Amino acid sequence: MIKTEKLVMIPGPTPVVRSIQDQMGRPTVAFGDAGFVADFKQLVLDLNEMWGAEQSFVIAGSGTLGMDMALSNTTKAGDNILVCTNGAFGDRFKKMCLRKGLNLDILAADHWGTSVTAEMVEKKLAEKKYAAVTVTHVETSTGVVAPIAEIGKVLAKHPETIYIVDAVAAAAGVRSNLAEMNIDVLLTCSQKAFGVAPGLTILFASKAAFERRKALGELIPEAYADFEEWIPIMKDPSKYWGTPAVNMIWALKESVRIIKEEGLEERYDRHIRIAKLFDDALEAIGFKVAAEKGFRAPTLSVYLYPESEHVDDAKFRSLVGAEGAQVAGCLGAYAGIGFRMGHMGNIDKHVMIGAVAAVERACIKLGMTVQPGAALAVMQAGLAKED
Ligand SMILES: *Cc1c(COP(=O)(O)O)cnc(C)c1O
Repeated sequence: MIKTEKLVMIPGPTPVVRSIQDQMGRPTVAFGDAGFVADFKQLVLDLNEMWGAEQSFVIAGSGTLGMDMALSNTTKAGDNILVCTNGAFGDRFKKMCLRKGLNLDILAADHWGTSVTAEMVEKKLAEKKYAAVTVTHVETSTGVVAPIAEIGKVLAKHPETIYIVDAVAAAAGVRSNLAEMNIDVLLTCSQKAFGVAPGLTILFASKAAFERRKALGELIPEAYADFEEWIPIMKDPSKYWGTPAVNMIWALKESVRIIKEEGLEERYDRHIRIAKLFDDALEAIGFKVAAEKGFRAPTLSVYLYPESEHVDDAKFRSLVGAEGAQVAGCLGAYAGIGFRMGHMGNIDKHVMIGAVAAVERACIKLGMTVQPGAALAVMQAGLAKED
């Protein structure tokens, strides 16, 4: 057989469609080029509107820069901060907060596979005043989605507290809106549900976030991450602060065009439907979805190996890769006992079938008791109902 092309089915990067690749392959122009400036400006306006934000930022960087920016612009050393965590990515905020000299309280999900709830946040906020609260929308280590809208209702009763949402593995795949959900800073990046290659930090901020930034004084310790430096550029991209990632910005603009063509709401609904299809297909061949019912993310899943099969994790994932789909290993409590699969962004029926087929073939090659086509049958039945 000739070598099978590998689909990128990890929780980011996600498959990049041809029209987005084409934007990355365009001849690069000067960042002051009139056509580019107009494209950048329109992209920022579209993002503001689509996410109900006072201002969006598109900056060269990864999701981690967004986390840093969120904290840097809304808190100062000595402030109280509440970090809500449902797993390894929620935990990433901890060390960042300690670096910045924040007084850190942790609110953790009862156990991996579930989420911190709005009631839990409400109780914490009644006990103590916090400068900011962080929530991870989709926890990439567990495949759990947090109730960000319900938590937003609690935060609405605490206007002194800035509400930060890490929506890296969610935005453009799971519903989020700053104005509707009382969110002050929502951060993401290009390589997850936007379906663009890695390289861009995308951050949305509210008026209250800007007021907080102003209250921190003229100079915060960070330069590249400072809202105040970037706001004039995002309003008028002909100005200069740091060179914009010209081709990546075009790529993101194409991604936003695709999202608008599909419709944001339809895109969110589609992610819910396809997550259910992946989960049902994998369950049909003995895998267990790690996230509990009611907490399952539309963008990625953790699939635990059938206990009776004693699967060699590294061998399994390498076989799935060889069969045509790159999947990711698990972290923390799930390390070694399952794998992570992204199912977000611009994935079509070919990709979905190809990914499930690769998992099935790997199972068969490993000698697991899997009926050829059992998972595919479930996926096919579901996809046949889709237009
Ligand atoms: C991927 C991810 C990040 C980190 O993003 P990078 O682009 O790798 O810096 C942060 N938070 C969540 C929830 C993620 O899934």
